[in-house]
Amino acid sequence: MAALGQGRHLYVSAPVNALVEGLYRENTTIAEILTQGDFGIGTFNDLDGEMVVCDGVVYQLRSDGEAYAVTPETRTPFACVTFFSPYSEEEITTPLDHAGLMALFDRLLPSRNMLYAIRIDGLFDYVRTRSVPRQDAYRPLVEVAREQPEFAFSPVEGTLVGFWTPHFMESVAVPGYHLHFLTADKRHGGHLLECRPRHIRIAIQHVPELRLGLPMTLDFLTADLSRDTRDDLHEAEH
Ligand code: ZN
Repeated sequence: MAALGQGRHLYVSAPVNALVEGLYRENTTIAEILTQGDFGIGTFNDLDGEMVVCDGVVYQLRSDGEAYAVTPETRTPFACVTFFSPYSEEEITTPLDHAGLMALFDRLLPSRNMLYAIRIDGLFDYVRTRSVPRQDAYRPLVEVAREQPEFAFSPVEGTLVGFWTPHFMESVAVPGYHLHFLTADKRHGGHLLECRPRHIRIAIQHVPELRLGLPMTLDFLTADLSRDTRDDLHEAEH
């Protein structure tokens, strides 16, 4: 449970720029991540799958499409979490296509300049995800993303976990909507590419503060992070 004063900030363990440049190993542990939030997304060291943090439990969705349990000592090069306490919840009983869902989000988020945590539970006619395959360091993310296995589910019950991030924060976190999917049986999922919801409940929370970790690793401290990674990030995440 979130104590008073929690849920006011998004914690980002390292700027996403570093990940785009191939820094796939940092020292931040899952135990540390869970002190900063019970809800969020990310990846694991060596880019070993997609992370979903839901109700305080961390799931690792590897490139074989399966979910694995995560130990507190497991490390992450990039994770975004908050303590989730939604201010609005809405039930949608009309089937939507992916564009329809994005348009609905656009109506539900009052400002483009705020961080929002978004949770969707329900039944989907179709969900398509991907999970990144384990990598050696320094291979640019955009190259890795071209080879990632995709998974399709239809129909499926599950949960989407993620965020809206303003575009002016693009070196810190993935700008726009970034959602990861976890099936209701908690066995499968991945980074969301497309979905068609049938009957869902959407919960939204605005997050008016950002807390950014700057990893104390030699790799991070000596990396050149001055390049504009916008196009690479856009290609890797969509
Ligand atoms: Zn993702």
